[in-house]
This record gives sequence, C-alpha cells and structure tokens, in this order.
Amino acid sequence: RILDVNTMIIPDIRGNQMIVLLYDITEIRRLEKVRTDFVTNASHELRTPVTALKGFSEVLLDGALDNPQLLRQFLEIMYKESRRLEILVNDILDLSRAEQRQVPMKIEKIILNDAVKACFQVIKPQADEKGLKLRLLSNHPTPVVLEGDQSRLEQVLNNLIYNAVNYTDKGGKISVLLEETNEEVIFHVADTGIGIPEENLGRIFERFYRVDKGRSRNSGGTGLGLSIVRYLVQNMNGSISVKSTLGLGSTFTVRLPKSL
Ligand code: ADP
Repeated sequence: RILDVNTMIIPDIRGNQMIVLLYDITEIRRLEKVRTDFVTNASHELRTPVTALKGFSEVLLDGALDNPQLLRQFLEIMYKESRRLEILVNDILDLSRAEQRQVPMKIEKIILNDAVKACFQVIKPQADEKGLKLRLLSNHPTPVVLEGDQSRLEQVLNNLIYNAVNYTDKGGKISVLLEETNEEVIFHVADTGIGIPEENLGRIFERFYRVDKGRSRNSGGTGLGLSIVRYLVQNMNGSISVKSTLGLGSTFTVRLPKSL
C-alpha cells in the first residue's frame, strides 16, 4: 500500500508489515559535489601563493639574503603573494557569510546616486591609470532612493564596477545607469570592454569560474567576485542578469525592491 510519494507499507517474507521510506538523494549528492568542488578549488587557489611564499623565503634563507638586489626583488614578490592570499581569504569569508546570510541586514535609506559616486571615487585612480571614463547616468529626475543595507549594496557596486574597469582596455568607458519603477530600483553597470563569450555567460556567477584565468589572476582576481555579488543581491530579494558581446562590452543589470 502506498501511503504517499515517499512512504509505502509492504509485507516482508514472514508476512509482517514493513514501512519503507524512500528518499531522493539527487539534491543531497549535488550539494555534496558543490561542497567538495569548492574545497578543491579553494585549496588549489590558496596553495599557489603559499608555495611562492615558502619557496622565496627558503631561497632567501639559503643565502640570497646577502644579495641586496635579490633581497628586494624577492621581498616584493612575497609582498604581492601575501596580498593575493589576503584578498582570497577575505573573498572566501565574504562568500561564506553571504551564502549563510550570517551578517544581519542593517536597513537604512540609501541614495543610489551617492553610493555609485562613492564607488567611483574609490576606483578612480585605477580607471585614470587606464584612461577609462566613469559616467553616472539616470533616467530619473530626482535621486534614486531605496531601503537596504548600504555596505552590501556598495559591495555589489564595487565588485561590478571593479570588474568593468578590470576587463576594459585603455580608453574605454564605464557607465552606471539608474532607473526607478513603482516597486523597484534598477541599475546597469555597462562597459566597452573585452566582453564575455556567449558559451561562458551562464557560468560566470559560479565560484572560481573565470573566462580567462591568466587575465583574472594577473589583475588580482579570485574568481569569487560575481558569486559574492549574486548571493548579496539574492539576500536583498533582488536579481542580477548579464548581457555581453565579445569585443564590444558587457552590461550587468541589478534589480532591487525599493523596500524589503
Ligand atoms: P574575477 O576575480 O576573476 O574577476 P568574478 O567572479 O568577478 O571573478 O568574474 C568571473 C569571470 O567573469 C571573470 O574572470 C571574467 O572572465 C568574467 N567577467 C566578469 N566581469 C566581466 C566584465 N565586465 N567584462 C568581461 N568579463 C567579465
């Protein structure tokens, strides 16, 4: 006799009644795989700077310490690698906090125009170095306002604008366009950069996924930025999407409810 989809009563060989419970473990297996993949990827990413730090400090201790030129050169590499380690560990912590919704939301009134300007200010030196123009555009006559957690929102903006700067070659443009409807605020972060191939678009929000590993690593990327962004946006009950044309540029669009 079937009691429900997962539970049945059947007789055993002696004629006793047995209750059989059936579980679909496909989802559990999938989550286990996501977890082991994450640990494998994270260990691999962490091992690279640790190996470099160990190797260069060994060479220094073995005698290179006495050569002032090598000493400076190796210390500079070690500083860069420890910085990479620091960024990676911070990203892993941010991701795990965002996933577990650990940090309580601090709800306040946010003026989106000001939040974007604050992010531009932080990123301007890097943009100037590459001759990139940063523009803020709005479809709304007055400043766009929403309720939410300011630091989370700024983390989302920072990550998207940082990527736009990072993946746009010299002389390009980065624009943030703001929109507002009755219930939502929408912002688009658009660049005239290298773009993302169609076949990779569906995977860029996965942890550690990079289209071009070399380019991402060289510029200090960890492959975690967009997965952090996606979780933060979800925590704010919003959504994120992307459109991109290879060689022409990418636009990331975030929609957030005006009040939570
Ligand atoms: P990363 O630290 O490598 O930048 P992200 O999670 O932020 O990691 O992004 C994942 C990948 O998506 C990047 O490695 C890059 O290949 C691609 N990507 C993200 N943003 C852009 C963009 N604005 N233009 C082109 N490619 C991008």
